[in-house]
Amino acid sequence: MIGIFGGTFDPVHYGHLRSALEVKDIFGLREVRLVPSAQPPHRQQPVATALMRLDMLQLAIEHQPGLCIDACELERAGPSYMVDTLKLLQLEFNAEPLVLFIGSDAFNQLTTWYQWQQLFDTAHVVVMTRPGYKIEQLDTFFTARLTNDRTELAQNSAGKLYFQQVSQLDISATSIRNMIAEQQNPGFLLPDKVIAYIRQHQLYLRH
Ligand code: ATP
Repeated sequence: MIGIFGGTFDPVHYGHLRSALEVKDIFGLREVRLVPSAQPPHRQQPVATALMRLDMLQLAIEHQPGLCIDACELERAGPSYMVDTLKLLQLEFNAEPLVLFIGSDAFNQLTTWYQWQQLFDTAHVVVMTRPGYKIEQLDTFFTARLTNDRTELAQNSAGKLYFQQVSQLDISATSIRNMIAEQQNPGFLLPDKVIAYIRQHQLYLRH
């Protein structure tokens, strides 16, 4: 199975990285693909450019086997729709099951995503629990797909919903950007190399 972890990564931090590593091991994934979003359709535009977010991701995951970056959304014109990304990956990986990982905050917004129901035609969805975000009541679309048995993911090509507890790291890119704008030290919230890159390029200095 292949894991897909989308995000704006503005900047990438240990909340992303630790969760990606944990789910890789828990689900026995061949790899986890971090997919930076070019133009996120549901949220404010990123502060750092797409290339800078890609550079920061590269610095963050070097020497980390099993984590890799997929820049397909940056290469595509127009808004980044996960449903299109999953269709591309489905072609690339043939019949291998795909697992889309999203945090609980993103899951609570899932029904606003473009063609969100079709995500389940191409992948399983695993929701990673995140501090401060409770899962809202599941409707029948989700309860019909919900499983408590992780092994069902490998046995089915797509369509399952599973909730996975990950280490509770109360870190967000927003809080890191705010700290930097307020001249606070974001050390130990994200890799030192990424902090050095942010300093070098004078990123996030203003709100
Ligand atoms: P921002 O604060 O700018 O909204 P973010 O920290 O939420 O950014 P994103 O790049 O938007 O980061 O998140 C990408 C994915 O990673 C989302 O599915 C999100 O839920 C998840 N995620 C982000 N931070 C954490 C965390 N600390 N623990 C678990 N999942 C996380």
